[in-house]
Amino acid sequence: MDDVLFDRPEHPEEACGVFGAHAPGEDVGRLTYFGLQALQHRGQESAGIAVADGTTLTAYKNLGLVTQVFRPSDLDSLSGHLSIGHTRYSTTGSSTSWENAQPQLSSIGPNTIALAHNGNLVNTVELRDRLRGEGIRFRSTSDTEVMVTLIDHFTQVHNSIRAGIVEAMKLIRGAYSAVMMTEEAVYAFRDPYGVRPLVLGKLDDRGWVIASETCGLDIVGAEHVRDVAPGEVVKIGEAGVESWQAVPAEKPSLCVFEFIYFARPDSVMYDCTLYEARERLGAALARSAPADADMVMGVPDTGVPGAIGFANASGIPFGEGLVKNRYVGRTFISPTQLMRQQGIRLKLNPLRHALAGKRVVVVDDSIVRGNTTRKLVALLREAGAAEVHMRITSPPVKWPCFYGIDTDTQEQLIASSNDVEAIRAHIGADSLAYLSVDDMVEAIDSGHEGDFCLACFDGRYPIEIPETVKRGKLALETAES
Ligand code: SF4
Repeated sequence: MDDVLFDRPEHPEEACGVFGAHAPGEDVGRLTYFGLQALQHRGQESAGIAVADGTTLTAYKNLGLVTQVFRPSDLDSLSGHLSIGHTRYSTTGSSTSWENAQPQLSSIGPNTIALAHNGNLVNTVELRDRLRGEGIRFRSTSDTEVMVTLIDHFTQVHNSIRAGIVEAMKLIRGAYSAVMMTEEAVYAFRDPYGVRPLVLGKLDDRGWVIASETCGLDIVGAEHVRDVAPGEVVKIGEAGVESWQAVPAEKPSLCVFEFIYFARPDSVMYDCTLYEARERLGAALARSAPADADMVMGVPDTGVPGAIGFANASGIPFGEGLVKNRYVGRTFISPTQLMRQQGIRLKLNPLRHALAGKRVVVVDDSIVRGNTTRKLVALLREAGAAEVHMRITSPPVKWPCFYGIDTDTQEQLIASSNDVEAIRAHIGADSLAYLSVDDMVEAIDSGHEGDFCLACFDGRYPIEIPETVKRGKLALETAES
């Protein structure tokens, strides 16, 4: 996620990271804090932790990065033996509203339920209307509040948490990988298509951990046991781990962008280390779109493994041409218009001595709008690059995402209405090439070739999207229909 200047990032925005723990005798507040730090790349707008000790559930959340939200004294007050946590990038609801931060709580009955999820429901409006009809009021605009309220509602109706989750999962549509807790147990469940990742880990004999990615297990020393299966509910309580299939699994549709860009490169999905998969994507590009060049470089950080793969496969030396300012995070301080116009380099700075006179291959993971890539190419030329050959380790993004990733409307996606040559001219590169969908899936080499959501590239959405929701983003389709 590297907005070279101040513009909206060039890549699709991440959704969220979730974490959960059941570990009697451990400091679960701090365990969750570190788990969330490992998942910080999945969302930087708010963070929250809920803990319980068997009788009382306590939650603390706020806007900002994990390290900004929690002071040591906050963590001291989060004592208990079970917890959930969340780090958020908003896709539904206002991004800077405290009410939309997670976990979201519901306490219709005697128990409190806390829930956090990664993904996006596509039938939020319909479900909210239904619950409003039952006299239930909402504090936020988020789909998470609808989900937790629905679960709590059915829990009261059936006097059973298990039935509450199952009945809610039968009604909610969309992508969700969720962690939930009561005062007594932690739950984790995943939509029947498995669009967003969710893994279960074990802390020796000390307890169990749930995380969006395996890097969230590694940081707390937990061993990766297995994925939470699509449509499955896992409960971790005094009796240990129990699980049941709440709704039938559909065709697995893990978001392919987790492999290309979203997830951390040290995470493992479908038994693949993502760093290695990204190197293979770069090597595949070197074979399908070679370039005559002196140096291969990646756009830090996510383009670097692909660049190394391209360099190894092509024999062209790998080098660094850009330095990333690692301490510029997402902030609430907007740059002034003057700063924008001056093109102050907030995140990336070119290494002039490395670029001067060189023909460079620049590997990046995706192009969304094209404007940031255009500025990147100009930056490299200003720094002395003789030629700039852009190579993208994914196919052209032509379709927006409805499953928890912020990819603009279709008409804002440069590849939805421009061919590769027009995009090359727009960004000002000497050449531009993408991977094909087939080459991408083959290069990932996961052994799960048919088990991806590829809708950004082919428009085939695995989970049906209501017309009213589609209309908000599919401008071209609406114009034609
Ligand atoms: S539409 Fe794109 S970003 Fe969204 S889940 Fe599918 S592949 Fe991932």
